[in-house]
Amino acid sequence: MNTGQFYINGSWVNPLEQETFDVINPATERSAAKISMAGTADVELAVQAARSAFPEYMATTVEQRLGWFSRLLEIYRRRAPEITQAMCTEMGSPLSFTEEVQTPCGDGHIEVIMEVLAGFEFDTLSPRGGSRVLHEPVGVAALITPWNWPVNQVVVKVLPALAAGCTCILKPSEESPLSAMIFAEMIDEAGFPAGAFSLINGSGLLAGAALAAHPDVDMVSFTGSTRAGIAVAKTAADTVKRVTLELGGKSPNLLFADADLVSAVSWSVEACFSNAGQTCDAPTRLLVERSVYEQAKEIATRIAQATKVGDPSVAGDHIGPVVNARQYDNIQRLIQQGIDEGANLLAGGTGRADDREVGYYVKPTLFADVDNDMTINKQEIFGPVLCMMPFDTEDEAIRLGNDTDYGLGACIQTSDPVRADRVARKLRAGTISINGAALDYDAPFGGMKQSGNGRENGIYGLEDYLDLKTVTA
Ligand code: NAD
Repeated sequence: MNTGQFYINGSWVNPLEQETFDVINPATERSAAKISMAGTADVELAVQAARSAFPEYMATTVEQRLGWFSRLLEIYRRRAPEITQAMCTEMGSPLSFTEEVQTPCGDGHIEVIMEVLAGFEFDTLSPRGGSRVLHEPVGVAALITPWNWPVNQVVVKVLPALAAGCTCILKPSEESPLSAMIFAEMIDEAGFPAGAFSLINGSGLLAGAALAAHPDVDMVSFTGSTRAGIAVAKTAADTVKRVTLELGGKSPNLLFADADLVSAVSWSVEACFSNAGQTCDAPTRLLVERSVYEQAKEIATRIAQATKVGDPSVAGDHIGPVVNARQYDNIQRLIQQGIDEGANLLAGGTGRADDREVGYYVKPTLFADVDNDMTINKQEIFGPVLCMMPFDTEDEAIRLGNDTDYGLGACIQTSDPVRADRVARKLRAGTISINGAALDYDAPFGGMKQSGNGRENGIYGLEDYLDLKTVTA
């Protein structure tokens, strides 16, 4: 693969601008690849390719699209080890975790979009039957993704866009472009028409913003920080684009005394530290009913201290480094702030895990007796840092859980299903996990409040890329 090229209009092409960017392997702190960074002329080329291809691509049949997806599925499964390798290198995702969790998101979502597409009614009637309602593609979609779940974020945008009949331009994170470039090769091999899908690499401030501003782009689907999402929405407003935002989180995890304490606490710590804490809906605030709080602290400390940190290229159940120096420094600053603001540090702390000299390895860190107003409890840390606090009543737990600007995920640990249902209805978050249940690929994923406005996955993702046209005769 020539990592300096972009995939535009069905071919790998040289960039028009000369700026480059080193993709750093966070385990070695060394450059793993050099990519080109698109300038406005590259963005223009990609947008025009998508614009020109749109009329023909939108007219393709469901059978044709299913044919391309079916080939894509076969190619993805064949090349899955390359995708795994790329994610280990570009963001330090540990080998076993990547093979078992990150990489399977790709074929899992391809299977679901094929099921959805095969059954979707694009041509329907209004409820009283007086009008036809056509579900048509929105048009040219710009897809901007983050680095933390590189393939998952790419497929939950590219697949529904192409299934809907949109043409699209993907700008993956400049931190994790390698898996996205392999995915672009797969799209090419699957035979999707030229211009239906293009990939450019580049910075958010230049390439991302140029896509969001471009008058020939009809829609932007953005996943990333709330800060950048707000900027994208403002930029896109001038041309009245459809904007879907999947943003940050600070998800609460409410642990009631009737839960199976050892397994609930173990799951809670592991879920927070998984992916080195770099998951948008990671349960980073563990609220524990006071009667079991001290016991929960002991169990959580044991689990946090036993969490292994290690080389992502080696198999095992360890967590890896965080993505880059900026992220590492930011996490260190926030851990220090937690200490300074008076939180009780039970495990981890500042400095590199295991006194390593190389690699952005953060110590798995546990804070207890965290106050709701502390910075570590309010800001998304995006590292392996868990905050614990006690609560006395169910109402207080719900109030504390909802006391955040975000609303992406929430978790409940209880053996009482009636309570679980009651609390789930009162939590203001887009997804609720009860007793560690995992989300299926076909269930909607997205946030409330400042965590965003879109819903990805399956039919819910597809609908984001469709416009309704009423035809009354
Ligand atoms: P980021 O906001 O820095 O970057 C995300 C993407 O946006 C990158 O491709 C970047 O180049 C681009 N970008 C940055 N500024 C831009 C701008 N002004 N205009 C246009 N594009 C711009 O986020 P990140 O550090 O890559 O990812 C981590 C963040 O993503 C966290 O906040 C996390 O919670 C969030 N996230 C959310 C979800 C979700 O589904 N809600 C999923 C994964 C990650």
